[in-house]
Amino acid sequence: MKYIITCINNEVEILDDLYNKLSRIVDSDYLVESFINAEQALIACLNHIIVGNEILITINGNNTSQLNCEKFIIELYKSSPNTKNIIFKDSLDIDMIENLINHASLYKIIPNQLKKIDFELIILEAIKINSQERRLKDYQEVLEAAVDRRTKEINNINVKLNVLATTDALCGVKNRRSFYESCGPIISYNRRERKPLAVLMLDIDKFKYINDTYGHGVGDEVLKSMAQKTSKILRKSDVFARLGGEEFSALLPNTTELGALKVAENIRQEIEHMEYVSSKNETIKFTISIGVATLNSHDINIESVLHRADIALYSAKRNGRNQVVLYNDELLEA
Ligand code: GH3
Ligand code: MG
Ligand code: MG
Repeated sequence: MKYIITCINNEVEILDDLYNKLSRIVDSDYLVESFINAEQALIACLNHIIVGNEILITINGNNTSQLNCEKFIIELYKSSPNTKNIIFKDSLDIDMIENLINHASLYKIIPNQLKKIDFELIILEAIKINSQERRLKDYQEVLEAAVDRRTKEINNINVKLNVLATTDALCGVKNRRSFYESCGPIISYNRRERKPLAVLMLDIDKFKYINDTYGHGVGDEVLKSMAQKTSKILRKSDVFARLGGEEFSALLPNTTELGALKVAENIRQEIEHMEYVSSKNETIKFTISIGVATLNSHDINIESVLHRADIALYSAKRNGRNQVVLYNDELLEA
């Protein structure tokens, strides 16, 4: 992109003088062009604008063409409102100036007899202002890009923080807090729509024995493998979480008692048949017990259903582990 300085004057010597002076002042970002009539100048300017160049300054001296300097400036203003238009003439028509101020823009009016050095200073000043504006624009772009980058970084950090805050670091499933948060709206919806809903409480059997026999690190691996296996069996719409220790829970929306028992039994069997090979190359087999409860009309939140699933789970433990037990009121008396 070039910055164009357009000189118009029908006296060739003045024009050449102007052209030579300006060409010496500017660097290669600028292009000085001289015309003896304003019509040619306008066509050239519009062509520059089409190809993306910017008309920085026009210097309008005497011009005898049909398009006088007033019309030239007003025409150019329609396509290039930021151009700094300079008029240098001896006789100035007040109406013309008023018209230009009202319908275009006038940067400076310079009497013809002005010392050449002053004239050059005015042009230099216009160029200086232009480069300051360019620097400011560049700086703004750099600043906006930096702000954009920071905003994206902060968004990414927030996404990561949210994942950290809602995920169990060891197993990669939801944590207790996130489980409770997710269950609230699902339970409200299922209650309102009178849709069935079930909750599973899952607990690894004799997990203490695994820790004691293979070490806590292998215990961790077993926890992870159990969480992964269960996640795969559950539906995407189910909410699965590690509530703490070796205890997990799953909320199954739109699931009947029978459906929940099937899923629970499926998980129990899959874990029973799984052979986990630890990083120390030990083959470990383990089992889980599962308590099942379904939503009833008295449940207003997850707490009471979860409590019943917990009672069923401990019944499963008491009955010898590695089994699925459905909650019923008689378990309370046991
Ligand atoms: P039960 O069949 O009755 O459930 O017996 P259990 O041994 O599984 O249950 P208990 O509650 O006696 O022991 C649970 C053990 O789980 C004790 C605790 O050290 C261990 N544990 C809790 N959190 C973690 C953990 O993040 N990693 C490992 N490796 N062990 C854990
Ligand atoms: Mg256990
Ligand atoms: Mg336990």
